[in-house]
Amino acid sequence: MIPRSAIAPLLLLPMPLLSGCREYLRPATREWAVMGTFAAVSVPYGDSAKLDRYVLEARQFFARVNHTLTVYSPSSELAAVNRAAGSEAVRVGNLTGEAIAAALKYAGLSDGYFDPTVAPLVQKWGFNDGTAPSSAPSPHEIEAILGRTGFAQVRLSPAREQDRPGNWQVELALPGMSLDLGGVAKGFAVDRCFERIRNMGASDVMVNLGGNIRCSGTARPDRPWRIGVRNPFDNSQMLGVLEIPDGWSVASSGNYERYIMIDGKRYTHIINPRTGYPVAGMAGVTVTAATAVEADAMSTAFFVMGPDEAQRILPRLPGCQVLFVKDEQPPVLWITPGFGRLFKAEPEFAESVRLLH
Ligand code: AMP
Ligand code: MG
Repeated sequence: MIPRSAIAPLLLLPMPLLSGCREYLRPATREWAVMGTFAAVSVPYGDSAKLDRYVLEARQFFARVNHTLTVYSPSSELAAVNRAAGSEAVRVGNLTGEAIAAALKYAGLSDGYFDPTVAPLVQKWGFNDGTAPSSAPSPHEIEAILGRTGFAQVRLSPAREQDRPGNWQVELALPGMSLDLGGVAKGFAVDRCFERIRNMGASDVMVNLGGNIRCSGTARPDRPWRIGVRNPFDNSQMLGVLEIPDGWSVASSGNYERYIMIDGKRYTHIINPRTGYPVAGMAGVTVTAATAVEADAMSTAFFVMGPDEAQRILPRLPGCQVLFVKDEQPPVLWITPGFGRLFKAEPEFAESVRLLH
């Protein structure tokens, strides 16, 4: 099943039909399935003749990223890195090297709340090819697995000039370690795809991979790109609408996106790397940031750390803005001031917005 995304491009709004006003038709979009989710490219209506070329580029690029970084196929570069854990360094190409570098960067910036070495825990809890457990793992089991996690145990050396093209070396220091780039790969891929499409001459375009979105220019001459933020408790309802400034990105993480039930209790797919347990108490997080990789990694990290820790970390990430919805009723929308400047809550949530300072 294709997981639903917490954010939806607002491309289907009714068009203004006031006489005397210039009429703009809705943006043109093409969507397809990839990386266990969907991808889409949109351009303003007037640019629709160019869309086929951008879609072809994006399709080929996302397919290549998937082939290189998937943990679901033994022939991916990432799978080779994981197989060699605790024994040797593996040579990888630029895509893998740069994706791992991005994951490690945000692991450091988030004080390890984002950690790509949570893979064995993610699997223990039944996600990403793991076997769904019939009962919750014991604290003893979790403790043992935590012993083979930790992003400080990933040794990555960048490509050397004489090694071109693309020879990075990566080594996982502990036996049984493995990397999971599920919290960052889509945002990483969106940024790379966005650069490629802009280099083809696009000035107004939206690239979307499973709700990891980056926008250039505007949706229409009179209107920025806009995203609907879904209510984490009711997929059919919007919390509000977020404007995306030129060049900016948005991503969400949610407890409803993927989860398993064990003994009648729901466990989400995002793991707290400090405890080894799935995060409880958070329903959804939406992040807007200058790049899609930052929005992707930090939405996962903020989902784990919650608003109090986020306020300590945010000064390290200039421009990054967040919305938190905790797993409680009635829902409260905790937002940073900069998020508030771009976000308009739906009338029924207008009274539920609270500012984080
Ligand atoms: P996202 O939907 O971007 O929040 O990413 C969630 C995915 O990232 C999960 O399905 C796991 O594959 C992986 N993941 C889970 N917990 C973490 C974590 N604390 N840090 C990094 N990646 C994680
Ligand atoms: Mg993420």
